[in-house]
Amino acid sequence: MKLRNWLNKMELTHPIVIAGPCSAETEEQVLKIAYQLKDTDTSVLRAGIWKPRTRPGNFEGVGSLGLKWLQKAKQETGLMIATEVANANHVDLALKHDIDILWIGARTTVSPFIVQEIADALKGTDKIVLIKNPVNPDLALWLGAVERFYESDVKNLGVIHRGFSTYEKTRYRNNPEWQIPIDLQTKFPDLPLILDPSHIAGRRDIIFDLCQTALDLNYDGLMVETHFDPDNAWSDAAQQITPETLKQMTVNLRIRKQEGDAVEFKNKLNTLRTKIDVLDHQLIESLGKRMKIADDIGALKKANNVAILQTRRWNEVLGKMILEGEENQLSEEFILKIFKAIHQESINHQKKVMND
Ligand code: PEP
Ligand code: MN
Repeated sequence: MKLRNWLNKMELTHPIVIAGPCSAETEEQVLKIAYQLKDTDTSVLRAGIWKPRTRPGNFEGVGSLGLKWLQKAKQETGLMIATEVANANHVDLALKHDIDILWIGARTTVSPFIVQEIADALKGTDKIVLIKNPVNPDLALWLGAVERFYESDVKNLGVIHRGFSTYEKTRYRNNPEWQIPIDLQTKFPDLPLILDPSHIAGRRDIIFDLCQTALDLNYDGLMVETHFDPDNAWSDAAQQITPETLKQMTVNLRIRKQEGDAVEFKNKLNTLRTKIDVLDHQLIESLGKRMKIADDIGALKKANNVAILQTRRWNEVLGKMILEGEENQLSEEFILKIFKAIHQESINHQKKVMND
């Protein structure tokens, strides 16, 4: 597969940067942002024209009128232009306005019917199509969308990692679940992978760190929501940054060059270490969640006047984990050590609840 050709042809000396407002608001706004991004590391101007909102009543985009503004920005600044398409009619209009990159939104990727409709409308195009991950953490659904475009003879493809929604609210608007794009990258190393830190973060202050993690994981680029007056943006105000901040960010980010044996070794090591960091983070999160459940059990036992230590249950858990450990090449000795420690922490949590 030569999925990477479009990116190689751009001959960038750094990961690709796509930037621009969540939504095109007015002609002046689009042009002003485009000029602020001109002659920076950004090579593509993004702006949503049709905005899929989770709840009705929010700003739903300016519609096809905005395509003319993007076209004008392209003519005046030389930036490539990108927008989201969510049905065949959007595709038709985007193609008529010479949009260079069409992206498929997270709420669209979840629906194979709509993805197929868009893939049919784009059959054989040489436009670049970037597919955002579906809102739910499902690698197969994401890959399925890529396959639908590939089978429709769309060869300039890439994916955008924008995080996955969860019912529980966490520090992220959309949980990164790094393991999913890492798995995708391992399976399809030729498919350009771009991070959208804005929709993962939902806020400005963690965008830099998200970008750095992505670069350490060898992502091919970034798509960052950018507005000259973020607080007054018509959509996603909390997560947008100014073109100025983005410029500073691209200076501060460590980009790993892929040349030379020593550098290659360091790059590989860094990538592996970042993968370990991602898993360690998941371990701590899982342990935290487990202890919260232990607290609930403590409260339940207290209400029913039941003893903390239930030996039979504990032996069952341990037996099961030793077997699962074996399946995952983990020694019995190791499982015993870890689960004794976890059990002790659970008991401490329950004791605290029962004595409160
Ligand atoms: C967007 O990029 O503005 C957007 C709506 O993104 P997502 O589909 O990731 O929610
Ligand atoms: Mn947005």
